[in-house]
Amino acid sequence: MNKEQNPYQNAMAQLKKAAEIKSFNLAGRPKGAELLARLENPDREIRISIPVKMDDGSTKVFEGYRVEYNNILGPYKGGIRYHQETNINEVKALAFWMSLKCAVAGIPMGGGKGGITVNPKELSLEELERLSRGWMRMLADVLGPKKDVPAPDVNTTPEIMDWMNDEYGKITGDKSGAVITGKPLGKGGSEGRGAATGMGGFYVFESLRKDLGLPDKCKVAIQGFGNVGQNAARIFAEHGHSVVAVSDSKGAIYNPEGLDIEKVMGHKKVKGSLSGFPDSKEISNEDLLELECDLLIPGAFENVITEENADKIKAKAIMELANGPITPEADETLFKKNVPVIPDILANSGGVTVSYFEWDQNLKNEHWSEKEVFEKLRPMMADSAQKILQKAKENSTDLRRGAFILALERIAEKL
Ligand code: GLU
Repeated sequence: MNKEQNPYQNAMAQLKKAAEIKSFNLAGRPKGAELLARLENPDREIRISIPVKMDDGSTKVFEGYRVEYNNILGPYKGGIRYHQETNINEVKALAFWMSLKCAVAGIPMGGGKGGITVNPKELSLEELERLSRGWMRMLADVLGPKKDVPAPDVNTTPEIMDWMNDEYGKITGDKSGAVITGKPLGKGGSEGRGAATGMGGFYVFESLRKDLGLPDKCKVAIQGFGNVGQNAARIFAEHGHSVVAVSDSKGAIYNPEGLDIEKVMGHKKVKGSLSGFPDSKEISNEDLLELECDLLIPGAFENVITEENADKIKAKAIMELANGPITPEADETLFKKNVPVIPDILANSGGVTVSYFEWDQNLKNEHWSEKEVFEKLRPMMADSAQKILQKAKENSTDLRRGAFILALERIAEKL
């Protein structure tokens, strides 16, 4: 992550660039000026201090956040990030993107995001549980199935969602589970939620592949091997594409003939890192981004493709499964180089869409099969992808601005 770049400023720059497209002219549309003004600030940003009793008996206080960006389309919705570099600007940017993402996805949800500045790998399981329950205790008042519905994000798991849901139930008596999504199966979680972001990205890719001039079988490089990166790698490989490189925070592995993803997953599980995987060359995360391939998928953090390396990208297309991996300056360079970018608010919206399915199932006390979940997800993703392509063409712009235009039109309609 490039710490020099403020993701919130980047998000606002993206908004401005889309709103100013002449053929779109948001401010000149009914309610457009009002919407633009409202989107320049979140409805509410909350900072909390969470005291946690550590295993050695001491007390440590962690900084936590919840940003409610806007609820024009429905309850605030968005994940909770645990990371040592998470701060209010990052959470604000992520909450803003959630507002547009839910609109692109066509679900009745607004945008929110939460976080805690912590390296969860440094905590014991018990400390992590106390921290997570603490976050929920301090925010239970503002959250709720019809108010604000969190979910997982970087470094937060179904188990953490379960602790939080349990804590909320104890405080409020609401045991429906609909206050938070991404819960474990058997604890109100939805089938397919774990793989949803990767699967949704794959459906978008399938829908746009020909339009973007990509071959039947692509060489794919994926940055990030957390939930999103692993599922994407598995799904692309299962569909006959060749995943030539993957990376985690410590480094990347590369094999131009394609990696055996099942084996890579097994190796990562046992060794805790990708390093030392046989039949591969170890390269850096930076090298991975500059590999010769058909599709590059940044699947981890913001600001990894910047002014500094945009010119060196050799991929034919990029799909953002991470939120905000490309800076606005790099976007311009890639547009000029004719490298299409499938933007985050479209590409990774499968996650929040299945979260919405989970919330809906919890409220109706239903449980849908995985088949049913993916059968509902696929046409929604393909439909959004095609609409965005259309908007981009009509306005002679890139897919990011196409996606912003679709989202802004949908939100303005409800204002
Ligand atoms: N954290 C995910 C995202 O950035 C999912 C949010 C959700 O499911 O509410 O889209």
